[in-house]
Amino acid sequence: MNALETLAREFLQTAFRLFPWPTEPGLRPIGQPDPSSPVLLTGNFDLTVRRLVHALEGVDAWLLVAPSGGINVWCASSGGHLTTHQVVTALKTSGVAEKVKHRQVILPQLAATGVLALDVFRRSRWKVRFGPVDMLDIPAYLETREKTDAMRRVRFTLGERMQMALMWAAPTMVVLCGLALFFAPTWAAPLAALIALMSLGVFTLYDRLGSARRRIVLVASVSLAFAVALLAGAGPPALVASVVAPAFLTGLLTYDYSGSTPIEGGSHFEERAWNIHFDEARCEGIYRCWEVCPEACFERDEANRKVVLAHDDRCIRCGACVVQCPKDALFFQAQDGARIEPDVIRKFKLNLLGARRVDAG
Ligand code: SF4
Ligand code: SF4
Repeated sequence: MNALETLAREFLQTAFRLFPWPTEPGLRPIGQPDPSSPVLLTGNFDLTVRRLVHALEGVDAWLLVAPSGGINVWCASSGGHLTTHQVVTALKTSGVAEKVKHRQVILPQLAATGVLALDVFRRSRWKVRFGPVDMLDIPAYLETREKTDAMRRVRFTLGERMQMALMWAAPTMVVLCGLALFFAPTWAAPLAALIALMSLGVFTLYDRLGSARRRIVLVASVSLAFAVALLAGAGPPALVASVVAPAFLTGLLTYDYSGSTPIEGGSHFEERAWNIHFDEARCEGIYRCWEVCPEACFERDEANRKVVLAHDDRCIRCGACVVQCPKDALFFQAQDGARIEPDVIRKFKLNLLGARRVDAG
């Protein structure tokens, strides 16, 4: 594949990542791996695999690509497409056991919501370690096998925000500007500009706008679009459209902003009102929760071999700690006091509408 084709593929897979882009699952050598080289596992989203291969330049390792429905690790793990079953199957059928003399596999940290490390070990005798959140940190992690605080936390950089903006803007433009071209061609260009600006604005600023943020986006976008339409001398239909279009886009772009990024909990699911709880008496200081929490909510209390849930205010209710704790010391509690058992979180994953219906097997 030449550079132009690679660039086009990168753009298309970023812009339309709402759709699956599967690549062939299986075992791939990276560099010159030998029987003591590390084994890294990821899902079969083509974009992730290509970027990972690039990030691992200079590293000798085995890369095991597990079937995740062609979608990224965070969505696949949270949604029941990259689960214990897929990981165990990949370990057993890829031939990796004949290539290495150890039995340790490193998963992306964001797979911890869906892949139960203890069950992988019970079913395959492979030990799971959760590596860094960001694949760019993998070479440094492989040097020490220790994660720094920064490696455990989701950063959501400007580059990632731009990619999310593109991911929402591109399909929205295709649909809405396509309709505009058909019914009112002169509206297509202003609509494309509005979609681009609103996508960029929402994904750059939304999490920094406080609790009234949806109203802020609505008022700002409607006012701006209406003012521009008025100054441009638009007629009544276009003035109405300048109010309706940004209002619609506000709803669309902010609807699952939180749930589609690993920086906040989903805002419209029943789980938004759940709180994380810690039963200290059950804790035996295994530190899995500390290892997998993308918001660094836990601190290690080495003296007492426990964790402290020191920053529960940061919790995004991803469930990774609940899924991984072998002592069931962590669980969610609903507003009415009902306890949601850890096994419910382990077994049933969210579907796209936020219902826990997907049995992760
Ligand atoms: S809460 Fe669970 S996972 Fe965390 S340290 Fe205690 S026993 Fe380990
Ligand atoms: S404390 Fe909250 S954010 Fe951290 S792993 Fe647990 S559920 Fe996720």
